[in-house]
Amino acid sequence: MREHNNDGGDNGTFDELGVMPSILKALDKKKYVSPTEIQKKAIPLVLKRNDVLGCAQTGTGKTAAFAIPIIQLIEKIDGNNKGKPKIRSLILTPTRELAIQIDENINDYSEFTNIKHTVIFGGVKQHKQVERLRRGVHILVATPGRLLDLISQRLLHLDDIKLFVLDEADRMLDMGFINDIKKVLKLLPEKKQSLFFSATMPDNIVKLSRTILDKPIKIEVAPVSSAAETIQQYLYYTNRTSKKDLLLHILKDEDMDQVLMFSRTKRGADRIARNLQKVKINAAAIHGDKSQVQRQKALKKFKEGNIRVLVATDIAARGIDIDKLSYVINYEIPNESETYVHRIGRTGRAGENGVAISLCEPEENAYVKDIEKLINKRIKVIKDNPFPQTEKPMTEREKKEWNKEKARRKQEFFKNRKAKMAKGGGNGGRGGRGGNRRR
Ligand code: AMP
Repeated sequence: MREHNNDGGDNGTFDELGVMPSILKALDKKKYVSPTEIQKKAIPLVLKRNDVLGCAQTGTGKTAAFAIPIIQLIEKIDGNNKGKPKIRSLILTPTRELAIQIDENINDYSEFTNIKHTVIFGGVKQHKQVERLRRGVHILVATPGRLLDLISQRLLHLDDIKLFVLDEADRMLDMGFINDIKKVLKLLPEKKQSLFFSATMPDNIVKLSRTILDKPIKIEVAPVSSAAETIQQYLYYTNRTSKKDLLLHILKDEDMDQVLMFSRTKRGADRIARNLQKVKINAAAIHGDKSQVQRQKALKKFKEGNIRVLVATDIAARGIDIDKLSYVINYEIPNESETYVHRIGRTGRAGENGVAISLCEPEENAYVKDIEKLINKRIKVIKDNPFPQTEKPMTEREKKEWNKEKARRKQEFFKNRKAKMAKGGGNGGRGGRGGNRRR
C-alpha cells in the first residue's frame, strides 16, 4: 500500500486543493477558512479517483474530507442531467446521529450545486425516507440495518454507485455490523471508488479494508495513540462512593458550561443526570433506550446551551458533533483504552483546546495504567481533591462477591419493576421504547 507523505505542502486553501467554486462558496458561508490536515491529504487524492484508507477520528474534519470531493465528482458527472438522479454515492456509517450529521454537512457543502442527497436510518417509520428516495438522490447516507431493509423491499438498489464510503469502520465492527457490511458489499458494483475510514486500525479492520479497497493510499492524522495533543487531560483518584460528590465539586467551576459526560451504562447515565437535576444543574442523558426524538431533542438543547451536562453512553455519543466542545468528563474509566481516546477526542475539535477530566475509583486504577501506555504519557493527577482515593482495589474474592451482589440487586430491580408494571405502575423508570437494547 502506498503511504501519503505529503503534509499538504502549500495547499493552504480549499481553492488550492482543487475544490470547485460552487463548493468554495458554501465553505465560505460555513466560515471554513483553511482545510484541516485530513482534508489537505484526502481531498486531492479522492478527486484523482484513488481509493483511500483513512486513519482519523471524528473531530479532525473527516466528514468534509470525503464529502467535499464526493459532491464535486458527482456534480461533474451528473450535475447537469435533467432526469431523476441515480444513487452515485453510498456513505455507510454506524449510528443514526452520525448519519444525520453527515447528511447535514452534505446539505451545507452542496448548497450551491445540483446535488440531491438524503439519509436513512432505523428507529423511525420508513415512509418519509422512502418518499425522498422515490424522488431520487445522488448521495445516500445510511446505517446498515435500514439500508438492507429498504433494499430487501426493493425500494432502492446500489447498481449505480460510483463512490462508496465506509465510515467509522472500527465502531461498525464493535457494534456487530460485520455481516451487514458484507451483505452491502455484495450489492455494490465491482467497479467503484472506495474510501474507508477508521479511528483505529487493529488487524480485523485492516483485513476488512483489504476486501474493499483497490490499491489504496493510506492517510493518517493524529494517530489514536497520540491522543490529540491539544487536549489537556486530568485525573482525580477517588472512591466509588464519593464520585457523586466529587463531580459536584468539579462542576462548581462555572466555566464548565458545556460538558459531555460519559457513563458506562444506560442506567448509570440516567442516574447521573437525575442526580445533577436534583441540585439544579441542567442535565440530560442520551442512550440507546431513548427514542430518536428524545435524543435529538437533548442534543439540540445541549448545542444551544440549554443543557449544561449531557450524559451519554459511548455508542450514543459516537455521532455527537458539537463545534468547540471544551469539556469531556469520564465518570467511569473505560476498560478499553481506545474508548478513552475516542471519548476525549470529542473535545479539542479541529485544533481547538479541550479539557478531559476522568474520575477514577480503585477498581479502575489498572485501566488508567493501560490508557497511559497507549497514549504514551502520564495523565496529570489533580491533588487538590476533597474526595481522595482511600480504598484499595478489591481482591479477586471480594470482586466475586461484589459481582454476586450486583446480580442480586439487578434481579431485585427487575422483580420490583415487573411487580409495579403488573399493578399498572408504568415502565418502572426506564425511559423510551423497550425494543432497542443498544447502549
Ligand atoms: P468531523 O471530524 O467531520 O466530525 O468535523 C469536526 C468539526 O469540525 C465539525 O463541526 C466541522 O463542521 C468542523 N470543520 C470541519 N472542517 C473544518 C474546517 N476546514 N474549518 C473549520 N471547521 C471545520
